[in-house]
Amino acid sequence: MMNAVTQASKAGVANVKLLIDGEFVESHTTEWRDIVNPATQDVLARVPFATTAEVDAAVRAAHAAFATWKHTPIGARMRIMLKYQALIREHMPRIAKILTAEQGKTLPDAEGDIFRGLEVVEHAASIGTLQQGEFSENVAGGVDTYTLRQPLGVCAGITPFNFPAMIPLWMFPMAIVCGNTFVLKPSEQDPMSTMALVELALEAGVPKGVLNVVHGGKEVVDALCSHELVKAVSFVGSTAVGTHVYRLGSEHGKRVQSMMGAKNHAVVLPDANREQTLNALAGAGFGAAGQRCMATSVVVLVGASQQWLPDLVEKAKTLKVNAGHEAGTDIGPLVSRAAKQRVLGLIESGVKAGATLALDGRAVKVPGYEDGNFIGPTVFTDVTTDMDIYRTEIFGPVLVVLSVPTLDEAIALVNRNPYGNGVGLFTQSGAAARKFQSEIDIGQVGINIPIPVPVPFFSFTGSRGSKLGDLGPYGKQVVQFYTQTKTVTARWFDDATVNDGVNTTISLR
Ligand code: NAD
Repeated sequence: MMNAVTQASKAGVANVKLLIDGEFVESHTTEWRDIVNPATQDVLARVPFATTAEVDAAVRAAHAAFATWKHTPIGARMRIMLKYQALIREHMPRIAKILTAEQGKTLPDAEGDIFRGLEVVEHAASIGTLQQGEFSENVAGGVDTYTLRQPLGVCAGITPFNFPAMIPLWMFPMAIVCGNTFVLKPSEQDPMSTMALVELALEAGVPKGVLNVVHGGKEVVDALCSHELVKAVSFVGSTAVGTHVYRLGSEHGKRVQSMMGAKNHAVVLPDANREQTLNALAGAGFGAAGQRCMATSVVVLVGASQQWLPDLVEKAKTLKVNAGHEAGTDIGPLVSRAAKQRVLGLIESGVKAGATLALDGRAVKVPGYEDGNFIGPTVFTDVTTDMDIYRTEIFGPVLVVLSVPTLDEAIALVNRNPYGNGVGLFTQSGAAARKFQSEIDIGQVGINIPIPVPVPFFSFTGSRGSKLGDLGPYGKQVVQFYTQTKTVTARWFDDATVNDGVNTTISLR
């Protein structure tokens, strides 16, 4: 049994704890929310919505810990990350089961969620060469200039439900290894796998107060974004909330990075490898029930590739909808009943707007899991760009298909969409791919790669409605985000008789 979750509540359901100053503590709040298995509706645990005093205590613990943690030698910080990555690897199967139970995705996909976060922890272990400053000798007579990359202080992280392992691991390991302390606010929908990872961080040697966790919703998030001791806020989630977090945090003088919603297009040219492209579209469109920020949600068939549509529908029909822990499942349930209702509402809006349902997943039945939040693969054709199903992030297993005659028109279409997170081009033409990567205004571009999430030594990015703030998570950019550059200009005298006299003008060197 995890320390972060106890069995002690009156209702007989486990309570998720807060982590404040190295202790897993029970919240004193009166507001709780059930964590529900989306395949069965079983209540797995309850999560507290922390009080303002508890948020304040977490931030103050982080602030106090910063005084010593910032002086911890870089090698000691690196060694904690080395131990942490080994622990995550060892506990991956156990945490994947928790993740599947509370979030719904398949077990192999849950392991993938943890693995992509693990890679960031591995990269954090090389901070010794990432956090180096610069040095220029003799910028003026006997004067040297160099920079220090110093930690900021208390950083906060707010994470979404769809990657409860990967996204917290995008944030606190890199923040901490740079010498900051951290307050994490996981998604209130599935915080148990996040807490299992937090427990391992303590086991790896993260000292008390360096990592803290508070749970909750808007009130807790707003308290973090406006707390005087918080220096930086990392947010990943929807565009509406991310925009609010960016504004509120910036108003209170914090650095903010907001990674937000998406509508990812896959552009298919007729010269593409047909079978590989259809595989990629079905996997990226329907995997994780479409609940990935990098899921393909729009297919743009260019010219003669329009004839591939029936094959795409047939490919979608082969995918197996079932509970995430069942072997052979391709598509698990949506995270909540509310999420399912929202997606059903959007499908209905597409029908009403005149789009054609080439494949309708609404009536899918999953024997043994009749109460699960399932929607089967759904494909819309005859879609126009003014329809809600084109403009809104559906975040469900729904592909909308548009057709255009040329690559130029496909590029213009993608660049007009309100979002700019990910895009894929499927072609065998190097010239088309080069033109596409140059002209497309999207953060992550895949060439024959359906979900081009960068590995941790690059950085995740985004355009338009998908990102606010200039520096993205992980990679070199996040080291800049989590550190403050200080420039030192220094001169030393080795001769006690040196006397330049008083100079009241700016030096001309
Ligand atoms: P969400 O915006 O509803 O929630 C994100 C976080 O904000 C949660 O911790 C939540 O508790 C908090 N929150 C919710 N409402 C709030 C409010 N009114 N004020 C302050 N805080 C609030 O997002 P979600 O549904 O958990 O996640 C799905 C979204 O995340 C999708 O839009 C997806 O595209 C996006 N996402 C983006 C990326 C990326 O890197 N660009 C990665 C993963 C997910």
